Amino acid sequence: MTTSRRRLLQGAAALVAAPWLVPQARAADVPRFALGIASGQPHADGMVLWTRLTGPELPGRVPVRWEVARDDAFRDVVAKGEEVAEADWSHSVHAEPAGLEPARWYWYRFDALGQRSAVGRTRTAPRPDAAAATLAFAIASCQRYDVGWYAAWRHAAAEDLDLVMFLGDYIYEYGTSAKAVRKLEGGRVETLADYRLRYATHKSDPDLQAAHAACPWLLVWDDHEVENDYANLQGEFLEPDFRRRRADAYRAYWEHMPFPKAARPADADMRITGRLDWGRLARIHLLDDRQYRDPQVCPKPGRGGSNTVALKDCPALADPKRTLLGAAQEQWLADGWDLSRPWNLVAQQTLMARMSWTDPKDGGGTYWTDGWDGYAPARKRLLAAAAERKAPGVVVLGGDVHSHYVADLKADYDERDAPVVASEFCGSSITSLSQPQARLDAARAWNPHIRYARSDQRGYMSFRLDAKQLQAQVRVVDDARRADSGITTAARYVVDAARPGPQPA
Ligand code: FE
Ligand code: CA
Repeated sequence: MTTSRRRLLQGAAALVAAPWLVPQARAADVPRFALGIASGQPHADGMVLWTRLTGPELPGRVPVRWEVARDDAFRDVVAKGEEVAEADWSHSVHAEPAGLEPARWYWYRFDALGQRSAVGRTRTAPRPDAAAATLAFAIASCQRYDVGWYAAWRHAAAEDLDLVMFLGDYIYEYGTSAKAVRKLEGGRVETLADYRLRYATHKSDPDLQAAHAACPWLLVWDDHEVENDYANLQGEFLEPDFRRRRADAYRAYWEHMPFPKAARPADADMRITGRLDWGRLARIHLLDDRQYRDPQVCPKPGRGGSNTVALKDCPALADPKRTLLGAAQEQWLADGWDLSRPWNLVAQQTLMARMSWTDPKDGGGTYWTDGWDGYAPARKRLLAAAAERKAPGVVVLGGDVHSHYVADLKADYDERDAPVVASEFCGSSITSLSQPQARLDAARAWNPHIRYARSDQRGYMSFRLDAKQLQAQVRVVDDARRADSGITTAARYVVDAARPGPQPA
């Protein structure tokens, strides 16, 4: 660990444990930066810096100063500015420094109301034409607060990562579980105030704060940032005013995440779809499979949301008109495959590979309707389009299913010899609970394209990428119910740029 990294992590911990130790804070003050700091959306000359002021009696508009330095002692400050944190937006700050140098690390901090925040480390992306780029990143998802501790984040923060890609379920809207190891504030989330409180509860965790302070994040949401299994403007319980609910949820999401001001939601709409070119190494495509999707077919009676159904009982599963991404986003992706860089990384929410829960012989099988299996013709279109354009190095990254999966992606799963057209790494949950391992083991026989499937592991995946190879590590905590849990690498895979499909390493 470098000195600066150790100081950074200690700084983040000290803020939570002992706010009176923060430089310039007056002893009598309540902590104003109790939810930490974050950065996100790096590009070649800047990124977004985030914080949110906390504590009682905040004025309606509070000036917040920020600065960016080339060193963690802030001797060499290269950018600074001021934002106004407004009560209407939860006193959140989304600062957007520009004119920074490409491909280098920076440190940042905020000042407001006589207090100073912890120091965060962030970086810019390489210029899109930079030849020698490499990328170290992790994917993570599903961090239900009450059922575990964030040991996984403590370990992720100690890896030397350029980027964290958070792939959804940052919060859960549920009340405290019967299996909880720590209590949530508040019950089931329904109002804007509830969503704000739920984010604040998560962001009070020092290990999560340390992971945000260690490097910039790219984020996409999944369902629980709004409600389990929601689809577009349809809620799980077919609530009459779901648009209001989605507007409140998206607003709280933007308030708490390092997205730019331009992404601020208008009513119930917020664009998170985007792209980042990392030098000449990779194009990262960020997808939204919640906001624009067709509702799940064959739900339980009187309900929206997911179900697990046999194809023969639910012919609508094969309806080619249905889409998971929405027609516009699907076209945007099909038109945007990068044909010049060796890698196309697709950061999205859920498992893309087919996972049939019964033997799919004779065109049958049994599928979970919320994931890509519920939209199989749309999956086929996406993968066929990538194959047809000969998009190089397509690697699909996901979460949502609370299991580590490594898989071959094929446009046609009914034909056993169909070519592998892309690779998939779908990370398990940081904490959220899963289904029995025996159920996955039983299904392996008729899902031969799935090379690794572990529902009994909590953690994340970390990757090293260069022009020739992707190296993947399946990271697993010993016990997500303990804050002091250790971590191990349970499996290693590589993908060669010249050949789609993960290989054991
Ligand atoms: Fe989840
Ligand atoms: Ca989910």
